Amino acid sequence: MTDRARTFYLTTPIYYVNDRPHLGHAYTTILADTMARYRRLAGDDVWFLTGTDEHGDKIAQAAAKAGITPQQLADRNSAAFRDAWRQLGIEYSDYIRTTEARHTKVVQAILQKLWDAGEIYLGKYGGHYCFGCERFYTEKEIVDGKCPDHQTPLTWIEEENYFFKMSKYQAWLIETVERQPDLIRPERYRNEILGFLREPLQDLSISRPKSRLTWGIPLPFDDTYVTYVWFDALINYVSALGGPGAPRFERYWPHAQHVIAKDIVKPHAIYWPCMLKAAGIDLYRHLNVHGYWTLGGRKISKSVGNLVEALALKDKYGNDAFRYFVLREMVFGLDADFSEEALVSRLNADLANDLGNLVARATTLIVNLGGGRMPAEPTEATRADVKTLGAVPDLKHEFEDVVMPWVQNAMDEFKCHRALELIWIFIGHVNRYVDVTQPWALAKDPAKRSVLDAVLHALGESLNVLGILLSPFLPEAAARIRATFSQASPPRLADAVWGRLTPGTAVAKLTGLFPRVEDKTPRVAAAARAEVARVPIDDFSKVDLRVAEVLTAEPVPKSKKLLKLTVSLGSEQRTLVAGIAEHYAPADLVGKKVVVVANLEPAQLMGIESNGMVLAGSTEGKLAVLTLDRDLPPGTKIT
Ligand SMILES: [Zn+2]
Repeated sequence: MTDRARTFYLTTPIYYVNDRPHLGHAYTTILADTMARYRRLAGDDVWFLTGTDEHGDKIAQAAAKAGITPQQLADRNSAAFRDAWRQLGIEYSDYIRTTEARHTKVVQAILQKLWDAGEIYLGKYGGHYCFGCERFYTEKEIVDGKCPDHQTPLTWIEEENYFFKMSKYQAWLIETVERQPDLIRPERYRNEILGFLREPLQDLSISRPKSRLTWGIPLPFDDTYVTYVWFDALINYVSALGGPGAPRFERYWPHAQHVIAKDIVKPHAIYWPCMLKAAGIDLYRHLNVHGYWTLGGRKISKSVGNLVEALALKDKYGNDAFRYFVLREMVFGLDADFSEEALVSRLNADLANDLGNLVARATTLIVNLGGGRMPAEPTEATRADVKTLGAVPDLKHEFEDVVMPWVQNAMDEFKCHRALELIWIFIGHVNRYVDVTQPWALAKDPAKRSVLDAVLHALGESLNVLGILLSPFLPEAAARIRATFSQASPPRLADAVWGRLTPGTAVAKLTGLFPRVEDKTPRVAAAARAEVARVPIDDFSKVDLRVAEVLTAEPVPKSKKLLKLTVSLGSEQRTLVAGIAEHYAPADLVGKKVVVVANLEPAQLMGIESNGMVLAGSTEGKLAVLTLDRDLPPGTKIT
């Protein structure tokens, strides 16, 4: 962990207001937000910029079609992006719009400077033009030589336009990219750019005549033209800081890092460095490039509607689960597939099962067995006693010496998927720590009090550091974890070490952090066993169903499937055997309120007399015991 504060300026692309916010935009923005939160957590000086790109043919045309002005259209659609980021809990520092005066001012100042320096000249531009659309089409957009909108042949026309002398920077750019191996990362995109630069670089057309397009920033040296695309859009990264000379620019620009999707690597890795070089502005530090999302294995280029629907799943499953899924699922730089099934599966496995259960187990154990207080730090002798319990993971060492440095390395390279993978290995080890040490068993022996306290202490410390380290990735859940220790102040990465929780700190139970999502209706195992289609109500009432609290749970020796449970029915305790060991660790059940058939005839299972049956549903290898969605005392009759 670094002690000195660093400066971090992070940008997303500005999103074109002809689009609706969808999964693609959301992923880029969530990734940037996570990075910004992580660096704030580390104590860095962070500036995080996003915004909207609002000029051009498409906006002018869409506005004309809608019978409103281009500015009205831009206002409406820019607000839709801001609203999407508000709903996703994105904490940006600034939101730039290219129709703002602060942007226009800097674009025109840079253009004037380049014009004065002879970096821009008037030349001929030729292209495939559609008179219906009143625009040029690039080779890539043309379908069978025709306009993709009108399906009519295009006309080759030439007009005078202004050009930026980009070709003269080719040698400089190749040398720069080769000298800085991590300027463009991951490496595959750097290689792509170096490959592209093997061909001669053309000069860049930077204007459109006002006779064809008025919705843009006028060239300061010829007001019969407007600035075209990249000389307008890319400059937002500089204009939002106030431009060269402004205090915010001087503070943050030397630390600039861009996050983009792979479709706009070329403008960011070729045009933009040449523009900056010509304008006498230092190059950015890193260009971080991520891949595309596919949906259910299909390419998504022509299904923006599906991408919008994919983003809507954040409402169904919550921001944290959505955020976790996209950050964990996409290996930085590569394409990834999005599906609701995959999201639900990660939600159930990683969030509900691994993290949610750990938080529930650890807080419940500290409350039930430790009096709801953080125990004092154990002595060396007690620590040694804990090690005699079995193959107990050394959680402090693992977290501080392995997880933290590796997470730091991963985050330096924008590899959130890797950071989460490492954190989840740790979560798995804390769960194993509970299984091995069996605090509920230690609690039965007063002589083992100090060992029990040492175990509970390790669990408390583990939850505390997780509540801090998870905050950039799962902001809401992490805050709830910290709240179990009454930690309400903003977390700091420097506090993600053992020993920051004062002994005696109150600890509250936290269950249901991430409730499991059932994607199929489970069959009730008990009902499924009976081959009876319909039962008279009188028959049903013969079954005595009761709420039972699980007091202890332990594996049945020599059985893979069976757990022996002691449950409280209020006035009495029962021993029963349940075939759920492949689906629940014993500690997962302690403290749970379940539903049992109380008047079942006793049965002998593996030499144990079972007095009752736990109700559970199962399907396709998954099993869940019935629990209550509100608290009721043990023994309550279920009717
Ligand atoms: Zn057309």
